[in-house]
Amino acid sequence: MNILILGGGGREHALAWAIKQNPKCDKLIAAPGNAGIAAIAECATIDAEDGAAVVTFCEDNAIDFVVIGPEAPLAAGVADALRAAGILCFGPSAAAARLEASKAFTKEICDAANAPTAGYARFDDLEAAKAHVREQGAPIVVKADGLAAGKGVIVAMTLDEALAGLDEIFGGAFGDAGAEVVIEEFMEGEEASFFVLVDGETCLPIGTAQDHKRVGEGDTGPNTGGMGAYSPAPVLTDAIAQQALDEIVRPTMAEMVKRGAPYQGVLYAGLMIKDGHARLVEYNVRFGDPECQVLMMRLGAQALDLMLACAEGRLSEARVNWAADHAMTVVMAAEGYPGAYRKGTGIRGLDALPEDSFNMVFHAGTKEDHGQILANGGRVLNVTARGATLAEAHQRAYAMVDAIDWPEGFCRRDIGWRAL
Ligand code: ATP
Repeated sequence: MNILILGGGGREHALAWAIKQNPKCDKLIAAPGNAGIAAIAECATIDAEDGAAVVTFCEDNAIDFVVIGPEAPLAAGVADALRAAGILCFGPSAAAARLEASKAFTKEICDAANAPTAGYARFDDLEAAKAHVREQGAPIVVKADGLAAGKGVIVAMTLDEALAGLDEIFGGAFGDAGAEVVIEEFMEGEEASFFVLVDGETCLPIGTAQDHKRVGEGDTGPNTGGMGAYSPAPVLTDAIAQQALDEIVRPTMAEMVKRGAPYQGVLYAGLMIKDGHARLVEYNVRFGDPECQVLMMRLGAQALDLMLACAEGRLSEARVNWAADHAMTVVMAAEGYPGAYRKGTGIRGLDALPEDSFNMVFHAGTKEDHGQILANGGRVLNVTARGATLAEAHQRAYAMVDAIDWPEGFCRRDIGWRAL
């Protein structure tokens, strides 16, 4: 079959790498793709948030199946446009993508489903929100309702931080995304990510992961898109995963069906775990980046079969073939990230690295120029390895990092420290 992947980051390179290994895949196209994806797939230019343009591209190129990587095309209704045109697609409708696009909506669904999550209140008025924060006290969490690329959340340890956060959100720092705020109880615990395929009715867990959001070692410094990840997450034990499935994922997915917006695609539940019990922090309606890289490393070619079963509503018959292994990805970023960074610096040494089911460098922000790989983003490479133990995956990943010659790049040396 001919397959189109929408997106061009490390997540999409990992998806392309796994899909390409499956004999069901004939032609593989990514839009926009990147220099790493270009080595295994065709790259095309389409406006990925324009449903009609994506449908036309699929018709012109005889595409049988579309995998949507990022949240923006999902929130824009690209999956709806594809399904309306009779094209098989992996990813939720715009109505179901509200689980990520609106934090207030997710809270409402959790309430209706009685799913454990932080207590909350919603406000569209600054003074009322401030009064609520003063009454509750710190620590407290203030969130812009809509999509703000991870920047619309203020985990306030003091009252002043929370009040300043409210001023910022209502002052328009996040545009329409901040027209409403959700103010949440601060939850203590350890965070982990739980990935579940959902075809409306059936929920099939496909793995757990933990990431490192802070730029500095020891989880310090400013937040980033993620500096590394590993799978599985030891804190998310089988018993806690079962509790999260029974108390959070299944009831909320049933509530979506009840509301006429069945969810179809991968559901990424961000969980807070304390005393052997998980509560929901947030839902994302797509794979995490870089969590996808470690999940694909562990799933390999079967990822395509699972995504197809999900898109075709056959998840009740699907099984995940678990290998008892571990994967780790280390993000190499351009110096200065997440602040200002330089583009266009040269990366050498990639050709000499192994590329197999144990070692893979996924490209996140790269471009090719006259045969040379250049940095073309903040997060640039995802150096990913698999091993019988996490320590083995760690050793393999950092051996590759050390063989990459890119003086203008950096990475954290402590990915996986909690689990190791
Ligand atoms: P992203 O998509 O970048 O993960 P987001 O903008 O969707 O972020 P959330 O995931 O809701 O926002 O929050 C971001 C982070 O803030 C969480 O990963 C968690 O560390 C922290 N956080 C959010 N809500 C709470 C809470 N109620 N208690 C404690 N920490 C929280």
